[in-house]
Amino acid sequence: MIPHPVSELLARAEKRLAGEFSALPKVDASVDLLQIEAVLEKTAARLGDNYPYFHPLYAGQMLKPPHPVARAAYALAMAVNPNNHARDGGRASSEMEIEVVRGIAEMFGWSCESSSGGSGSGGFLGHLTSGGTMANLEALWVAGQLAPGKRIVGSEQAHYTHGRISGVLKLEFSAVEADARGRMRLDALEHELHKGEVGTVVVTLGTTAIGAIDPLEEILGLREKYGFRVHVDAAYGGYFRLIRDQLEESTRRAFEAISQADSIVVDPHKHGLQPYGCGCVLFRDAGVGRFYKHDSPYTYFTSKELHLGEISLECSRAGAAAVALWATMQLLPLTRDGEFAQGLAAGRRAAVELDRRLLEDARFETLRRGPELDIVVWKVKAKTGEQASARAQAIFDACAKRNLHLALVQLPERWFSDPDTAEDVQETVTCLRSVLMKPEHEPWLPRIWSELDAATAEVLQA
Ligand SMILES: *Cc1c(COP(=O)(O)O)cnc(C)c1O
Repeated sequence: MIPHPVSELLARAEKRLAGEFSALPKVDASVDLLQIEAVLEKTAARLGDNYPYFHPLYAGQMLKPPHPVARAAYALAMAVNPNNHARDGGRASSEMEIEVVRGIAEMFGWSCESSSGGSGSGGFLGHLTSGGTMANLEALWVAGQLAPGKRIVGSEQAHYTHGRISGVLKLEFSAVEADARGRMRLDALEHELHKGEVGTVVVTLGTTAIGAIDPLEEILGLREKYGFRVHVDAAYGGYFRLIRDQLEESTRRAFEAISQADSIVVDPHKHGLQPYGCGCVLFRDAGVGRFYKHDSPYTYFTSKELHLGEISLECSRAGAAAVALWATMQLLPLTRDGEFAQGLAAGRRAAVELDRRLLEDARFETLRRGPELDIVVWKVKAKTGEQASARAQAIFDACAKRNLHLALVQLPERWFSDPDTAEDVQETVTCLRSVLMKPEHEPWLPRIWSELDAATAEVLQA
């Protein structure tokens, strides 16, 4: 189990925070410690029923443990439990949210000399959300306000949430075919644009299945010609902008172009070392804040400063999420050569190395080009797709028995076959998938490989 090396530091910080309120008359806050202890024991036992997400041998889904400073800061904030709906409910944490949102916007090239960050007086507008789904919902809601009745278009590999959100917003969603690397096909997009009535194109930088990067720069070129809104869903991949110079040229160009998007979503609770409950939406034009206008009979805004609830669809939001992110960004600023960026690069190197080993192994088939970010997918060789799927499932199970946790993903068969001969193969095949998003995955890769190797040998001998 990963120890929590900062619990002592947290106790000290809690004392310091209590000191901030020392002028208040004392309140008897005694609780029945024995009862709480018993319940906590039970709780811990229940939590044992989990995959070990914190461990480097967990290399399956998109799960990255929060940084110890984020855990401690979140827990510290619980002493006041601020609500970032309004300054009244979360004075310090609203200010911290504005600062972190400004830092994230700067990462995407949106400097805010003329603006006051999240407050959006000039420049951009942005805030934290409970996650990527809510952040994307707000972006598409604004898109719909700006172009009522027009269609939303995204790649067939875009997160399924876009189709569902469009349904909620009563906007039509059209899916565009992806190429054999999981990226939106430009010819297919242009075909949709020809049909007309496209209000917004959702461009995914880092698809959830394989971390594919849609050709943003070229799509921005089409925006010139056809006129539509560009929403970048970088919930997973956004932070990779920091290490774009270490990525493939086409990937680098997409991350370079992100500053020209109309709206951007990134999830600090995916790659940003945060506990769940932390997404972020950014709008290039702060003027969209007008759509959020409301009169609340319940909220008595006591100051003239901006209240984040005035620019957010969610009302109550965890101030602690902003506090945790703020503390993390103090320790690990979003710089191109800092420790945070180095952690992303380490996971990426682990993915490239895993892909290289798979490519050289006759038992597996990889995508024709390697991973764009830190997600690796591979097919198990077999005579039929059905057999390949069954083998992937068996290897997945055999790995889990050895404490190596991978994931499964359904991918089009044609992504693996020769593009010249198998253009019309439509079936999907179950593949193995590994998201190598922890920096420790790099030093642990030899161990990950040896478990996979042994599990595969077991399955293929049986
Ligand atoms: C994870 C993800 C989402 C959904 O975000 P949640 O935080 O899970 O709500 C949307 N888009 C992409 C590309 C994602 O990877």
